[in-house]
Amino acid sequence: MKTCAIIGYGGMGEWHENHIRGNMTDCLTLKGVWDIRPQRLEHAKSKGVGVYGSLEEVLNDQEVELVTIATPNDFHKPLSIACLKAGKNVVCEKPVMMNAAELQEVLAVAKECGKVFTVHQNRRWDKDFVTVKEVLNQNTIGKPYYIESRVQGSRRVLNGWRGVKAEGGGMLLDWGIHLLDQIMWMIDSPVVEVGAHLFALMPGVEVDDNIKLFLRFENGISAMIEVATNCFILQPRWHVSCEEGTLQIDGWDAKGKIIRLADENEMAWDEVITYTEAGPTRTMAPRPRETVEEVALPQLQPHLEEYYQNICHAIDGKADLIVKPAQALRVMQVVDTAFEAAEKGCSVACRI
Ligand code: NAD
Repeated sequence: MKTCAIIGYGGMGEWHENHIRGNMTDCLTLKGVWDIRPQRLEHAKSKGVGVYGSLEEVLNDQEVELVTIATPNDFHKPLSIACLKAGKNVVCEKPVMMNAAELQEVLAVAKECGKVFTVHQNRRWDKDFVTVKEVLNQNTIGKPYYIESRVQGSRRVLNGWRGVKAEGGGMLLDWGIHLLDQIMWMIDSPVVEVGAHLFALMPGVEVDDNIKLFLRFENGISAMIEVATNCFILQPRWHVSCEEGTLQIDGWDAKGKIIRLADENEMAWDEVITYTEAGPTRTMAPRPRETVEEVALPQLQPHLEEYYQNICHAIDGKADLIVKPAQALRVMQVVDTAFEAAEKGCSVACRI
């Protein structure tokens, strides 16, 4: 059993509190939370959660082995370093840092202090993602060559610090990080090209509020990642093109379908012609039904509890981290390259 604390008790800090107290009681006890806003500490107290009077109190609490940091992004680095130097293991919220250089500094401190440092890439446990990963692992529809991963909303608002550049705002560092982490964990190949179209649509906004990223992997797979806050007709969460079929996952609940090529030879080229108003097409005419088959999606139930369990085992030296610092560093390097590509207005070659 390990004792932990949370620094930053806003929306996500409270989520960690609920999760740890509700689901992680076999390995973690939450001793208390610290936030710079007194009203958040009052709220914690009203739920029967312990509170600290200062950051120093957390750092000096010898019982606390693990600290989760859930502050705005610009505080991730100083707080991570302070916790590591105080002998704590650290779970840092995403984006782990503002850029790759910051992360390298923090990882050097973690190494020096001999402490575990990891990132809360919880979206690796999302049902839609684990379903896509499993279909590709099973090779159900052959080799993938193009993957589209999108999250789309139409709220048109980046609340508070999320709209402020200096505080680590913007959708690339927010949802973009999740989608990059997922795809780079799924595709085991270096990223060799990054293109980025970053939009700032809302009036007066100084950060990217809608983004499209284009990645090319060394093994020939390409991926498009989209985070939209201004989309009023939603597209599927995932659309995956493989050599022998197509996979579509509609939303978070992982509903969707797989259509697989059944028998290429049965299709008579001349039989079906589609006539549009301006002319005929055989290439884009529908495929005869009997030449394809629908395959059932795997039914999976991810267990997010694995995340903190794994960290406890890693602290005890009994397991490797699932979310490894080296993976987080690659993701941050792709983020840096995406900002560079957006600035230059063209894609950037790399090997990450
Ligand atoms: P929030 O604004 O709701 O909460 C942040 C809290 O941190 C606030 O209560 C604020 O008072 C406090 N704070 C600010 N500076 C502090 C400091 N120096 N010391 C202590 N407390 C401080 O923001 P949020 O939505 O909870 O996001 C927090 C972090 O969690 C961000 O890094 C964000 O990217 C991440 N996040 C992750 C997920 C996920 O699914 N993994 C989801 C949402 C947010």
